Amino acid sequence: MSTVPAPTPPVPAAAAASPAAPATASARKRRVFWFVAAIAGMHLLVPFAFLPYTFVWWGIPVLLVGNFIFGSLGINLGYHRMLTHSAAKFPKALERLWVLFGVCSMEGSPLWWVCTHRMHHQHSDEDGDPHSPKERFYWGHMEWIYTEDDRRQKLDTYAKYVPDLMGDKFLRWLHRGEKWLLVWAAHVVALTALGFGAGFAFFSTTDDAIQFGVQWFLWAVVVRTVYVWHITWLVNSASHRWGYRNYGTSDGSRNNWFVALLTNGEGWHNNHHAAPRACSQGHRWWEVDLTFTFVRGLQLVGLAWDVAPVKVPKHIEEKAKGKR
Ligand SMILES: [Zn+2]
Ligand SMILES: [Zn+2]
Repeated sequence: MSTVPAPTPPVPAAAAASPAAPATASARKRRVFWFVAAIAGMHLLVPFAFLPYTFVWWGIPVLLVGNFIFGSLGINLGYHRMLTHSAAKFPKALERLWVLFGVCSMEGSPLWWVCTHRMHHQHSDEDGDPHSPKERFYWGHMEWIYTEDDRRQKLDTYAKYVPDLMGDKFLRWLHRGEKWLLVWAAHVVALTALGFGAGFAFFSTTDDAIQFGVQWFLWAVVVRTVYVWHITWLVNSASHRWGYRNYGTSDGSRNNWFVALLTNGEGWHNNHHAAPRACSQGHRWWEVDLTFTFVRGLQLVGLAWDVAPVKVPKHIEEKAKGKR
């Protein structure tokens, strides 16, 4: 990723507080190149997890637990419900932990992610939506990620969409110069070391220990990262095309049970567009939302509060009734 230079004084007040500054054309090209290289590189590593030497059945539970930690707690809860929508509050240490888990999912800096998602809510499936799949599924799924969007290079865009988060030094530090990538790389090194360490601790031969380390790296890091990417992206693509609607929102959002199952709750996307602040995205008893269940658990032991209830605006409720 290219380094985004810090603004030099004098700068307007908004820019002074902003985490980003406009990049040059060549910096933007470099940025797109590295986005494509990172996404393609990760995908190219996935088949290596399915070779006789590397495929292991315990890779599946590792993948699912990894998805819960880094996908559900990091992206769903940290980046999405907590930072973007202020759907609940947690002790500072837990808030930081959710953000760090999100960073380890390699979906961009928290400020970049929140900025993009708030743009999506403001312009859902209309001009200005960064990733509407209305015209093309693939655009909404992943093409938009490695296509440069000038708006997210402008100071004004961050000042407009994430003013509440720009005062947070930790979030600014992660964003400036793409330092969140250092955190991501550190977690890869730590997880890989854990795998090889466990291999040498529990296996009697060096060959077995190395094999375990490689298997762990592929399943706990590579497959898990690519899996969390695609299920997150399915919320933007599939859940804006296929599924049922509880509410008459003005966008194309749908409740997609398959995506909800994979993402532990984010697939109830029509519910989410009808009540974006609500911490729970399941509005019917069968709309299971494990991410919210986790928050309820924390709330019961006093580790979560100000949990935003489901409040659907009357005009959307009325429109939905008219449709039935
Ligand atoms: Zn949406
Ligand atoms: Zn949202």
